[in-house]
Amino acid sequence: MKEELDKALCEKYPLIFRDRNAPMTETAMCWGICTGDGWYNILDTLCGLLTSKYRQAKSRYEHKKEVFESGEPPPWSKKLYTAEEVEESRLLMEEEAAKVPVAVQVKEKFGGLRFYVGPATEEHYNYITFAESMSYKTCEVCGSPGERYTDGWHTTLCDVHAKEQGREKSQEEDDE
Ligand SMILES: [Zn+2]
Repeated sequence: MKEELDKALCEKYPLIFRDRNAPMTETAMCWGICTGDGWYNILDTLCGLLTSKYRQAKSRYEHKKEVFESGEPPPWSKKLYTAEEVEESRLLMEEEAAKVPVAVQVKEKFGGLRFYVGPATEEHYNYITFAESMSYKTCEVCGSPGERYTDGWHTTLCDVHAKEQGREKSQEEDDE
């Protein structure tokens, strides 16, 4: 993946990509996000889902903290928060942050996305499975709808990029 896109994902989701620059003795993330640029939106959407509970907890905490510090309740709620309530929501945010799975390797294999993480929940794995499935229908070069080519190196491509690379659809599909 292009350096600027890799960087954009790492900056947007620092919890998921916290090991992006860790040494290679600790993680395969040191090699970066090893897919084509066409899967950027799949990865962006996946990371958004993997961090959604954390981001909700963060905005709840920030809202309570802001109201507490200003001493003025917002006009729509008329509710002030105590220091304890602010602290409680900060702890909830930290709890959610700790649950965000950390990427250990992100790459293409046999024409599909592989998104490997450390400890994760069943919900996280469901999102990852969905994202990996979508990659088999998405051109890895440009993100357009695509299909998997299995002549030689397996790659998922749209018609334009398959033609550009001189790829051939497999025999079985031509017979249909
Ligand atoms: Zn394409």
